[in-house]
Amino acid sequence: MTDSPSSAQTFTFKAETKQLLNILIHSLYKDREVFLRELLSNASDALNRLRFTMLTEQNVLDKETPLAIRIHVDKDARLLTIEDSGIGMTRQELMDSLGTIAQSGARKFMQAAQQTNTEFSRLIGQFGVGFYSVFMVADWVRVTSRSYKPEESAASWYATGEDEYQIEAAEMPSRGTKIEIHLKEDAEEFAEEYRLRNIIQKHSDYIGFPITLGAEEKPINKQTSLWRTPRSEITPEQYQDFYRQQTLEFEEPLLSLHSVSDAPVQLYALLFVPAKGERGVFSLRKEDGLKLYSRNILIDEYNKDLLPEYLRFVQGVVDSEDLPLNVSRETVQSSGLMPRLKKVVTNALFKELEALAKNDPEKYQTFWLEFGNYLKQGIASNAAETEKIQSLLRFHTTQQPETWSSLEEYTARMPESQKTIYYLVGEDLQTLRQSPHLDAFTAQNIEVLLLTDAMDSFMLMGLHQYKDYPLQSASTADLPESPAAPDAPAPEKMPEPDLESLLARFRETLGEKVQEVRPSARLSQSLARLVDPEGAPNPELQRVYKYLGKEFETSKKILELNPAHPLLKSLPNLAQNPGLQTLLIEQIYESALLAEGLHPNPAGMVERVQKIMEAALQANA
Ligand code: ADP
Ligand code: MG
Repeated sequence: MTDSPSSAQTFTFKAETKQLLNILIHSLYKDREVFLRELLSNASDALNRLRFTMLTEQNVLDKETPLAIRIHVDKDARLLTIEDSGIGMTRQELMDSLGTIAQSGARKFMQAAQQTNTEFSRLIGQFGVGFYSVFMVADWVRVTSRSYKPEESAASWYATGEDEYQIEAAEMPSRGTKIEIHLKEDAEEFAEEYRLRNIIQKHSDYIGFPITLGAEEKPINKQTSLWRTPRSEITPEQYQDFYRQQTLEFEEPLLSLHSVSDAPVQLYALLFVPAKGERGVFSLRKEDGLKLYSRNILIDEYNKDLLPEYLRFVQGVVDSEDLPLNVSRETVQSSGLMPRLKKVVTNALFKELEALAKNDPEKYQTFWLEFGNYLKQGIASNAAETEKIQSLLRFHTTQQPETWSSLEEYTARMPESQKTIYYLVGEDLQTLRQSPHLDAFTAQNIEVLLLTDAMDSFMLMGLHQYKDYPLQSASTADLPESPAAPDAPAPEKMPEPDLESLLARFRETLGEKVQEVRPSARLSQSLARLVDPEGAPNPELQRVYKYLGKEFETSKKILELNPAHPLLKSLPNLAQNPGLQTLLIEQIYESALLAEGLHPNPAGMVERVQKIMEAALQANA
């Protein structure tokens, strides 16, 4: 190395970079053509960055130079040259950007290559490894660049894909970057103009700057960004390609939405619902938010004001002609336009989800499983959104426990006389379906929504009504008297005096544990249930407190007994064995706790149950 900046200096690539180069050079990847996409996307980035800089900076070299990308080939020399009039790089920036893996895509690629057994070739296509992918086709590369900063001079970077690269001063008449690629012998095809034209149209058509090839003046790309391209001209593959490049997600998006609006605001939106609620480990985007463009210029990489917070899983781009051109990120916030954009974007998304639910219920179910919790959160955190979200909710019910029903479907199945939507909240479906609270509903054949998600309790705080029907918990609801079934005579209840003394025995045994013990007409199959006294916070709220880890005194419950239940009717027979009677009473209470999902220590019951079994065996001996 010498001190003079004008002669060539040699540097060594960082270890990680060497590894990457090694993989790329020896890659037999059949889709090597993607190197061109990577270089063109860098050129486009550089032009975008320049355009953005020009909004605020006066001191820019070659202000009048048109923003463009030029490609030349010299077939005989196997030389491919790509030039852009973008932001350029200083000597230091050349070293920083091309001397190490600065790029997140390439870093992810390396991580993935080390962590998975996936073939490299697939990963290359998946990730886009950035600038270095040029070494799949090049035996040497020279990058000459001149920064937009007038005081900086040009420099060049040269490498053969070995361990080292060289930096030296260079002559360059104007701002921008020139990449000279000497093609490997087996990569000759990339010196053919027709081949390049094809690749560009396939991968880079929507780059927003003219790309010219050879002596031709006419750009070969359409030049409109994908979101400004009419839907009819875009293939599903192009949407997917775009999504992958934006996010580096492996899986196809669950939903793509391309929307153009002229009133009340002008905007283009290209939105995606990912396949999974959780971002992939290799995802490029570590933050939520949409990309916000103003007339094709990227203003904000992670804009969080375009959608309500609970829809933060949505990815994509919003571009509006109505944003003033001289905007900064700060003035976007205060322009007053954002709330209007947000409204349009949000409504478009809801419309698309409703259409999906209607036209492709199976796919909608996938969406619901991945993202239902976000919608529930929307209701919990923003009651004003409830009406909009309601139709997208799905539930398991007593009648249809295996499938998902909408509130629309539930209410359509209701008998004429039913004016209320009933639900029951619990820990899991299995327990819920056996809940004693359902006895009366089962007897009258009334459907109940079964809610088992932690988020459900929060949702219920904002979900009180659907259309004209209020929602009510099956644990507190008083059902209208059912007409007695004619062919099933009501089972006989135990005599009143026996019942009274038995209730007294329960009260004496359970003492402080319960607020009251009383008979219930609501139970048919079940022996007992626990209910809240009048005025207690409802069970959902109690659960919310529990989930929030708040200190919270659960109010004492009322134990309700079924006076027609055979077990209860036989209990007075044990009067001559008060010890066993006590055990049974305690067990009845604790079983009810268990059914309610409230038992603090189920294993604690083992000893009692064993004693009861011993007594049963003795009685039979
Ligand atoms: P990425 O584009 O994801 O950042 P790349 O490996 O493609 O990663 O490029 C690395 C960096 O090199 C870029 O971030 C940029 O700073 C710089 N760079 C590459 N090509 C150009 C170019 N044509 N003009 C200006 N800078 C460039
Ligand atoms: Mg790049």
